[in-house]
Amino acid sequence: MQASSEGSETRVKRIVLKLSGEVLRCSKSGETIDGTILHDVCKQVKSVYDLGIEIGLVVGGGNIFRGLSGVEKRGVARTTGDYMGMMATVINGMALMDCLEKMEVPVRVLSAIEMNKVAEPYILRRATRHLEKKRVVIFVGGTGNPYFSTDTTAALRASEIGAEVILKATKVDGIYDKDPVKHPDAVKFDKISFAEALKLRLKVMDATAFALCQDNKMPILVFNMNQEGGIKQAVLGKKIGTLVS
Ligand code: UDP
Repeated sequence: MQASSEGSETRVKRIVLKLSGEVLRCSKSGETIDGTILHDVCKQVKSVYDLGIEIGLVVGGGNIFRGLSGVEKRGVARTTGDYMGMMATVINGMALMDCLEKMEVPVRVLSAIEMNKVAEPYILRRATRHLEKKRVVIFVGGTGNPYFSTDTTAALRASEIGAEVILKATKVDGIYDKDPVKHPDAVKFDKISFAEALKLRLKVMDATAFALCQDNKMPILVFNMNQEGGIKQAVLGKKIGTLVS
């Protein structure tokens, strides 16, 4: 895996890119799926696709609905809220599909919740076949189960399809020893082990997702995708973000 040592030639063949729903939201207008952001994200995905890298995209739904906030703010039952959150990922996935197709990138959307009119059902062998045929696969519907997250979905799908790394796109440029917004002296890690991250109680992913990655030795690169060409830099092994391995 060459996703982090500077200047090295790319060896990564298959990746899972985890996009949280928030990535698609415009912080100024509050628009849930902002057209310009969507376009920029897809342009970045295309630039990686054009390198011949097989891409599994796991998209979240937090810009539209989160199970827990449904419980807290609206009194929705947790399981109902979680299904609503999973449906939100389908909406985001379709937006990404449409935009990527307009850029002539072949795409297939695979849903963990059967929804035959809009997506194929998630079947592992089908997913790997699409990847081999150089189609970007968008995994929607989370794991298909309440009480999980799309980070866990990314950990699960990455392990299933044999991806070499999970690229977790965020709005911050990596993992710090403390919150960089509150503490100007916070130090960013370039690289950290799973054990160290656990010991320092660093928030990389939720506990289930983190444990799955640790157990399956699945490296996670946390990086800022708002940085110019962030995703491409990450797969080309440029020094970007924090690698947990
Ligand atoms: N969700 C779920 N099971 C899953 C994946 C997601 O129940 O396997 C629900 C959960 O309510 C979550 C919501 O879908 O809050 C949206 O996913 P997530 O919060 O992971 O999205 P992100 O924060 O990445 O945008």
